Amino acid sequence: MHEHDLVETHFKRLRTDQKQALEKLGIVTIHDLLYHFPSRYEEGGQTGTIAGATIGAEVTLYGTIRKPTTRKAWKSRRPIAEATLEDASGDIKIIWFSQPYIGKKVTNGMMAKVTGRIAGTATKPYIANPHIEPTPITPENAHQNLFTVGSSDKEKILYPVYSESRGISSLWFYHALKKCFEAHVHEAITDPIPANLLLRYHLPKLSTALVWIHMPHTQGNSESARKRFAFEEIFTIQLLMAQQRYDTQQKKSLQVQVDRKHQKEFIASFPFVLTKSQQKAIDVITDDFEKNHPMMRLLEGDVGSGKTAVAAATAYMVVTSHPSGHNAGTLQVAYLCPTEILAKQHFETFISFFKDHPVSIGLITGKECRKFPSKLARDSATRISRAQLRKWVANGEISIVVGTHALIQKSLVFKTLAYAIIDEQHRFGKVHRQELAQKDGLSPHLLSMTATPIPRTLALTIYGDLDLTVLDQMPQGRKPIITKVLKRGEQGVSYERIRKEISAGHQAYVICPRIDEPDPNKALALQAKSVKAEAERLGKEVFQDMIIDILHGKMKPLEKEETMRRFEHNEINILVATSVIEVGVNVPNATVILIEGAERFGLAQLHQLRGRVLRSSNQAYCFVLPETYGAQTRDRLRALMQAKNGFELSEYDLSIRGSGELYGTRQWGVSDIAMEALRNHKLVEEARAQAQALIQKDPRLIAHRALATLARTRKNTLHGE
Ligand code: ADP
Ligand code: MG
Repeated sequence: MHEHDLVETHFKRLRTDQKQALEKLGIVTIHDLLYHFPSRYEEGGQTGTIAGATIGAEVTLYGTIRKPTTRKAWKSRRPIAEATLEDASGDIKIIWFSQPYIGKKVTNGMMAKVTGRIAGTATKPYIANPHIEPTPITPENAHQNLFTVGSSDKEKILYPVYSESRGISSLWFYHALKKCFEAHVHEAITDPIPANLLLRYHLPKLSTALVWIHMPHTQGNSESARKRFAFEEIFTIQLLMAQQRYDTQQKKSLQVQVDRKHQKEFIASFPFVLTKSQQKAIDVITDDFEKNHPMMRLLEGDVGSGKTAVAAATAYMVVTSHPSGHNAGTLQVAYLCPTEILAKQHFETFISFFKDHPVSIGLITGKECRKFPSKLARDSATRISRAQLRKWVANGEISIVVGTHALIQKSLVFKTLAYAIIDEQHRFGKVHRQELAQKDGLSPHLLSMTATPIPRTLALTIYGDLDLTVLDQMPQGRKPIITKVLKRGEQGVSYERIRKEISAGHQAYVICPRIDEPDPNKALALQAKSVKAEAERLGKEVFQDMIIDILHGKMKPLEKEETMRRFEHNEINILVATSVIEVGVNVPNATVILIEGAERFGLAQLHQLRGRVLRSSNQAYCFVLPETYGAQTRDRLRALMQAKNGFELSEYDLSIRGSGELYGTRQWGVSDIAMEALRNHKLVEEARAQAQALIQKDPRLIAHRALATLARTRKNTLHGE
């Protein structure tokens, strides 16, 4: 047996459903099998031998099932299933009444864990209707305490539970892995982690860790094994990131002429004073421009922290630089946005920032192209054809192009793209980031911006190839938002506030989880309020005198745009919407938001929704209205109320692991074990430092083949964003 052998080769009697299950779990080779870790360990209850069980006692017995039969009761015709449970000490009868399905579950020779009360007499004991489940623990194991935790009198049993798929059970894994270990296959695998690091961090070597994670004798065993694999995974990701970072540093960037004096003047023309963190971010980016390799930077800042201004101030440096050797034309900037609404908004914002400068700005979306300034009217934008825009971008006449995905199409060629900005970058894949970074074979400086606050350790890991800058300050004069969690029946409080705000000239959002009237056939869906129905109800029953309109993802882009325009111009008092407004929409006059069905949104999403009303110096209000009020919902919403910023909230979410909406395998492509490890700051920092040191010495990991392989495999599973 060898780690690269196919599982099928050594487990020939696999049923079709088992094969499918393995495939679903991504288990193809023996190596995959060894790396399919238990998701948890179950503790067996107090146990004993069958012979030792006394009448009336509640017991958990491990044994082998013999002679299962089913029959109908003589009089009542009730189905009865019977079997014998046997261990080395003896056997006992078990009976199930009226549980016809049990006959299918219980098979001859199956090892089972049976929990129930001993009934009958000393000579004829039996257990009626016990709980039964298959178990990897043989009676011998149970009695020899193979899995015993600690040495206390109370015997506890630890057995591994795997994330299972239909057809393949934890028991199957137990036997399969036992076979692997007996063949010593784990001992022949090269340990990818350098020995000096194992020593340094007191981690078990690979062969030991594999046994300990699958068949721990003690809790300590499984913990150190998990720690080792956590380190291994984080270290591997860090290696990948360090490699990408190294590669970036080998590339050349276009020379941006840094003129801090003019930049200062430009910033002085803003209608506000920068926050300290905005200024710091601008300085750091400006410093990056002076280096001769491309910048790769992530700008993280809560909703409303003013990322756009940072983008504009740094774009200014670029569009006032001339390409070397040319006097005509400037270096170019691309500004990629996730939605049309946002692209248009940023286009307008950039026009207002640059209107007094000889800079032309283009807009490209799937729908239309625009250019500022217009040839006819110097102070407004005009619609142009796609072909025209392409031409002017290609010859460098347009300096800044704001756009959606249309911006990264191959047909759009820049003359001298020197700076690419990605807004709300979590909405794009890493692929897009790289596409933009490599567009036209050049290596522009890259600024990725995100309002999704993630814990620092996670950022350092999945965005390890980027430098990190955090905007942790809000513009001055912002009053902290007042967040209230309301119970059903307390909506009145929020309606009253909405009424007050609107009579003061402000506007409101009402967020619903659904678009349409729910399908009455789906019991669960019934509860979730829909945008359409709720807008109608509010108009009829609550806010008869107000202008209410709706916004959701299924509307046509033109309709959406028109609605947003009207909301921006205060022609709509209350906008009832789905979470489409989550992404960066900016209407400073909106001061109150009511979120219906709040438990349906993730904490991060709620935080971003709340950010929609954090846009002005007016006091803002957020009302959160869950449909049901479980303990978990209560805890999460309490965190939402108390957290000072999104970063705090994200750290909280990480600490209550299991919430699984912000973090987890699905979203980031990081395993549960690694997620656990992200709570350990020291581990992450160390793994990062060690990875960078190793890549400096051996960038292609030529002397570390096992690590190189591991890193390559990792690359395919990691989502990055
Ligand atoms: P985000 O970081 O969410 O993208 P924006 O860049 O859209 O935030 O900025 C939010 C609002 O705050 C905008 O209306 C912007 O003009 C304003 N703003 C940005 N920086 C400042 C500042 N330093 N002082 C006051 N207002 C600011
Ligand atoms: Mg923004």
